Amino acid sequence: KTRAAANAIIQPGFKFEDMGIGGLDKEFSAIFRRAFASRIFPPGIIEQIGIQHVRGILLYGPPGTGKTLIARQIGKMLNAREPKIINGPEVLNKYVGQSEENIRKLFADAEKEQKEKGNESGLHIIIFDELDAVCKQRGSGSGGTGVGDSVVNQLLSKLDGVEQLNNILLIGMTNRMDMIDEALLRAGRLEVHMEISLPDEYGRAQILQIHTAKMKKSNILDSDVNIDELAKLTKNYSGAELSGLIRTASSYGFARHTKVGSMAALQDVENYRVKREDFLAAIEETTPLFGVAEEELG
Ligand code: ATP
Repeated sequence: KTRAAANAIIQPGFKFEDMGIGGLDKEFSAIFRRAFASRIFPPGIIEQIGIQHVRGILLYGPPGTGKTLIARQIGKMLNAREPKIINGPEVLNKYVGQSEENIRKLFADAEKEQKEKGNESGLHIIIFDELDAVCKQRGSGSGGTGVGDSVVNQLLSKLDGVEQLNNILLIGMTNRMDMIDEALLRAGRLEVHMEISLPDEYGRAQILQIHTAKMKKSNILDSDVNIDELAKLTKNYSGAELSGLIRTASSYGFARHTKVGSMAALQDVENYRVKREDFLAAIEETTPLFGVAEEELG
């Protein structure tokens, strides 16, 4: 047995296209290469090369762009445990006084399994959302509770202390890269930094396709809907906002099919369609968080 054995395998039949992630092909493959590829090397190779697995990555960028989605899907792909998800503000508010203990608990299952099964242990992914929230107070000394300090310190000591812990990967996420404590970002800690930005037109088309796939299959998406056109009209929309847009468009379709307006139950179920006009109305009604679409509705 090797000291740093592989502890992840790719699920047979895995395809990126099936993951429901739109427009992040490059980011996904870079994250995979930097943070996960070593884990699927045949056992023994890692020891021969003399490296250790990456134990932390940081995904940063605007909200709703698919950071959590990527983390979860990578976990699924590698047949990892269901990721543990913790979020910064929650740690600060809920766990004042016992934040260190809670961070310890996060790592406990992985530590236990590593002890019991050694290199046979499966991969444990910990997702730390809104990581910036615990960084804000570090060293500020002015009125802060200091909870942030102890959380960051505890994370640092866990990350530094996992020499023998090959089965953990911490994925930090933030919308505020500038707030992240620089000590956390050093090599050996959250070593891989990847920006997940708003999707471009191609990405938006992919995301819209993914989120309308069911509608399309059941013929609810009218044939007058042109995904490429919608992608053009939705500049600055995040993935989450695009999926919201589809909900809004559906509601316009719904209103058209109810006899006495949108409060009634759907009358004309057979003919319920979501049409181009519904999407245009939805776009008119929506303002993306990061600026207004520049293109005018055609
Ligand atoms: P936050 O910073 O607010 O935590 P996030 O970047 O983690 O946001 P997600 O939670 O991954 O965003 O995205 C929210 C939802 O938006 C997803 O569950 C998915 O439905 C949709 N979505 C966002 N980005 C994409 C994408 N690239 N492809 C497909 N769906 C997406």
